[in-house]
Amino acid sequence: MQRILVTGGAGFLGSHLCERLLAAGHHVTCVDNYSTGSERNIAHLIPHANFEAIRHDMTLPIFVEVDRIYNLACPASPVHYRRDPVQTLKTCVYGAVNALELARRAKIRILQASTAEVYGDPEVHPQHEGYWGRVNPIGMRGCYDEGKRCADTLFFDYWRQYRVPIKVMRIFNAYGPRMQPDDGRVISSFIVQALRGEPITIYGDGLQTRSFCYVDDLIDGMIRFMESPAEFVGPVNIGNPEESTIRELAEKIIRLTDSASLIRLQELPDDDPRRRRPDISLARRELNFAPTVPLDEGLRRTIEYFRALNLSAAG
Ligand code: UDP
Repeated sequence: MQRILVTGGAGFLGSHLCERLLAAGHHVTCVDNYSTGSERNIAHLIPHANFEAIRHDMTLPIFVEVDRIYNLACPASPVHYRRDPVQTLKTCVYGAVNALELARRAKIRILQASTAEVYGDPEVHPQHEGYWGRVNPIGMRGCYDEGKRCADTLFFDYWRQYRVPIKVMRIFNAYGPRMQPDDGRVISSFIVQALRGEPITIYGDGLQTRSFCYVDDLIDGMIRFMESPAEFVGPVNIGNPEESTIRELAEKIIRLTDSASLIRLQELPDDDPRRRRPDISLARRELNFAPTVPLDEGLRRTIEYFRALNLSAAG
């Protein structure tokens, strides 16, 4: 049994991770300031004897006795991170320093939830870990993209300078139950719109692509990476290389929800990456990682979740 700290443990990915670690018999400390995470996401874990939740902002130092740290704390949806860009950047950078300092003192393993956003609007397709990225440092996404890039730098410097055992994971678009209905992300937005019979808002021409990974597969990759040999520090891409255009995604969701929603084209946000698909050959080779949930199946499960929320019409 390990004692494991999950920062951002009440978020979408964090809550699934806490659940899986508890099910594997570990003790889990969840840290969250509930800025975008939600107490609802972990309510079912609270009665568990091996679970504890601490309200804490990772921009401030923290001291807990643990054997592993998963550093997930950060708003991750463009709508959320643009709401308070300075706090987003601080969470990325100070949050990384605080988590790394704890790992350094306790001499424990730490995994960083990095992101495909470090590749920016990429000139290389699919994206492999050796690609340095193309990011606008002063654009609307800069607070998140550059924050996460700086965090990657911090992780590698703590490893080189202090020999902290790091794991840097590049997460590509993940989806599944417990995404927030109003987080502005494409899958949650489209499902909510389809279930309410509202227009599906495609930004731009809808020909931009993303590759969506079901949450269970992503968490599987995350835990495999954490427990892989110490010398494999990454960065490693984790995601599902099944690529679709946003328009195809909209049509799929309309079909799967049996919705009468129409499509409405809206302006494309600045710096929106044109194409994104992970090259996961490194994860396949080093971690024996392979996503198993096809998009249709994952969407069905996610739609079921949103249906059960009984979302009333907006307004
Ligand atoms: N998008 C869209 N309509 C929406 C929300 C998002 O067309 O209501 C597009 C967005 O412009 C982007 C893609 O869907 O090209 C994925 O957006 P999301 O915010 O989910 O993820 P990210 O851009 O961070 O990969």
